[in-house]
Amino acid sequence: MEERVYNFSAGPSVLPVEVMRDAAAQMLNYEGSGMSVMEMSHRSAPFEKIINDAEANLRTLLNVPDDYDVLFVQGGTTLLFAMIPLNLMTGSGKADYIITGQWAEKAYQEAAKFGDAKAVASSKPEKFSYIPKVPAGDFRKDADYAHITWNNTIYGSKYAAAPDTGGLTLVTDMSSSILSEQIDVTKFGCIYAGAQKNIGPAGLSIIIIKKELVGLAKESVPTYMDFKIHADNGSMYNTPPAWCIYIAGEVFKLLLKNGGVAAMEEINKRKAAKLYDYIDGSGLYTAPVAKDDRSLMNVVFVTGDEGLDKKFASEANAEGLVQLNGHRSIGGMRASIYNAMPEEGVDKLIAFMKKFEEENA
Ligand code: PMP
Repeated sequence: MEERVYNFSAGPSVLPVEVMRDAAAQMLNYEGSGMSVMEMSHRSAPFEKIINDAEANLRTLLNVPDDYDVLFVQGGTTLLFAMIPLNLMTGSGKADYIITGQWAEKAYQEAAKFGDAKAVASSKPEKFSYIPKVPAGDFRKDADYAHITWNNTIYGSKYAAAPDTGGLTLVTDMSSSILSEQIDVTKFGCIYAGAQKNIGPAGLSIIIIKKELVGLAKESVPTYMDFKIHADNGSMYNTPPAWCIYIAGEVFKLLLKNGGVAAMEEINKRKAAKLYDYIDGSGLYTAPVAKDDRSLMNVVFVTGDEGLDKKFASEANAEGLVQLNGHRSIGGMRASIYNAMPEEGVDKLIAFMKKFEEENA
């Protein structure tokens, strides 16, 4: 096989080799259709099967109850930052956001364009190094929903459990952790995620939403941004991001074959624990996030010396451990170890970290 690197990018990020190899084999002729999925009408029988299977398999993987819709839409999570308030902030016009990172803040700022969005808590003053514990009483009783970002891709923190919102509908951005650990969908009114981390190529977003929350958008909302248009048309009101849905579907099949989300969670916990244990025991590296709030997907660490951090990322790169630099806004290092990052990649990273520590202590 061609030389592949260990890609620790935060997204778009590593995808399962098995899926890409199968897709490559079928690139010119998908299952005897004589054409690529990229060339195929979304109204054709083979594509109908692709999208239906993808939805059914995602439902199985996440144990999505029947009173939830699963929607496949175009665009990134940034578009959903607007779609959420346009569809859900339509009762009292109020929504409460917990700010745990830049993406949470952007979601909040977008909602503030459309109504009375309130930041009920923020860990910004502490550089987003923890998840604030918000008592149920801090949410406004008449808010249309409460919003959280389950996993904070840039800072490397995540919720260990859903907050008690005192009965408010809970909405979450799960872009960087969906399918990495088991979740109880019934705790949420809406879960949304961009595909380009644990699911497939960029250009697809997934919305899992309680049916009773569909159809609440005002008439003035652009057609494409109304959840109902997608729910009523099986995510095929217009041309869906067909190729992305196909690859996502192949990823879902592979996950099911490999034991589902429970099996993924076990591996992810083992991968993350190895890395954090090594960091905690090391004399050179520290992980800034509070231990109870650490992400399984994005492991952030620093040496405390900016120059050394840069040297780390560039020397790692030369050894085929790529994209280890932290987000451009915070520096340091970040190892994104999504589902498709093999455990061997984490072992290789730890071996490199040890060597770098010895050479630079
Ligand atoms: N939310 C989270 C948690 C993210 O990590 C990202 C970006 N990777 C976004 C939102 C923004 O996604 P997009 O670039 O698809 O708009």
